[in-house]
Amino acid sequence: MIHAPARPVRVRIAPSPTGDPHIGTAYIALFNYAFAKKHGGKFIVRIEDTDQNRFRKDSESMILDCLKWVGLPWDEGPDVGGPHAPYRQSERTQLYREYAQVLLDKGHAYRCFCSSERLEIVRKERMANKLQGGYDRHCRDLSADAVHQKLKSGEPFTIRMKMPLTGKTIFQDGLRGALEFENEGVDDQVLLKSDGFPTYHLANVVDDHEMEISHVIRGEEWISSTPKHVVLYDMFAWQRPEFTHLPLLRNADKSKISKRKQPTSINYYRRKGILPEALRNYLALMGWSYGEDREIFSTQEMVEHFSIERMTLGGPVFDLEKLSWVNGHYMRHLSTPEYVQFLQKEIFSTEHLNRIIPLIRDRIEKFEDFINATHFFFSGDLKYDTQLLLPKGRSAADTAQALSDALDALEVIESWTATEITSAMEQFLAAKNLKAKDIYMPLRVATTGAKETPPLFESMEVIGKEMVRRRVRCAIAALNTLPAAP
Ligand code: GLU
Repeated sequence: MIHAPARPVRVRIAPSPTGDPHIGTAYIALFNYAFAKKHGGKFIVRIEDTDQNRFRKDSESMILDCLKWVGLPWDEGPDVGGPHAPYRQSERTQLYREYAQVLLDKGHAYRCFCSSERLEIVRKERMANKLQGGYDRHCRDLSADAVHQKLKSGEPFTIRMKMPLTGKTIFQDGLRGALEFENEGVDDQVLLKSDGFPTYHLANVVDDHEMEISHVIRGEEWISSTPKHVVLYDMFAWQRPEFTHLPLLRNADKSKISKRKQPTSINYYRRKGILPEALRNYLALMGWSYGEDREIFSTQEMVEHFSIERMTLGGPVFDLEKLSWVNGHYMRHLSTPEYVQFLQKEIFSTEHLNRIIPLIRDRIEKFEDFINATHFFFSGDLKYDTQLLLPKGRSAADTAQALSDALDALEVIESWTATEITSAMEQFLAAKNLKAKDIYMPLRVATTGAKETPPLFESMEVIGKEMVRRRVRCAIAALNTLPAAP
């Protein structure tokens, strides 16, 4: 149960810019936003970009653009600034180092000189012996002299927190009540890596404290990290925020929503012609009930009625049909000028047309042919003539397998340009020992619905990664309905 707020409500979302803006980020953002507005508080965006290995350069701007489009304006953030700037963790690394030092000085943390090779061996051994935690706390009790020697000889080190070895860590979750964890099972988490960058845990706690976050409302995948976080708050003698972990969006089979099973990028839904107010309404329904069996409500109405206790704990299944139903409702209520405006902005935007026209200008002779030649640049799912998907002499099963492997190769492309797609596909052909004709034609039909189209990879670039992947998945499903023999 979340109590009446004792301090000014300040909530945040803290996305990591590691890929396409995820629909789950919009979902978590919506509930943070509603909670902040309900309590006259502030909604903050903080970018957690300290994991340099997973970081993608264009991802932050995509996340901010998408959240703007979703329509959840934030009060403080990397683009709008605010009293606790900077809101990007990579610009705050000095702060984390200082706080790691505070913990060392208080005796709540220690330097760990173990090499990554040793850590790996220990981890495997412990796993084989079914021991809890991956690290044997080898450096926890090194003598001051030993530490001094190692520092003198320049050995690299990480800084780890000293988890209590016995007892329990308990925290209240806004939806689940008291959650208890045996300390014995919680690792001495690395807080600062040997390159001086913080891990998520240290940076997250330091920033939530520094930014005066009163309530942490985040996905339930972070529950197992929270004991470490609350111990850190206690070590620093800081007031803990109240924690609420929201149920995650799920695929139809109840697994955590994933791009292998359905589109997860906010851009996909935008490109599909979903109205932002419909998406907000739909995401609200996923985790919360308005009451009175009401399914259509504005975000303002949601804010007025919002209470976190009325959130549902069951894993909400993300259901495209239901989203379409909600969207249909909003679409029907648009005035004609609003309708036209939406089409011009989202579907037939100048930017989109500018990318399409060079691809088809040599292919048609009358403007009346434009729509026929380009419909797949504007539409969503396509209907397939399954025979077209099959190259001569190849079975449906082989073709479905090749498309499915191609999907994996497409997935890892970071910058979705024709050049990158071409090189990924060439590498894929070589690795799988496939011939161009075995895959390019099915891929062309899957992405465009036709055999004769503008250049494939350029078209794929314009159609967009998530839409291409969705269509290929649908084509595989269509092939799977055919008998296995050619
Ligand atoms: N950076 C984490 C993420 O990517 C934030 C988790 C949290 O809200 O604490 O979701």
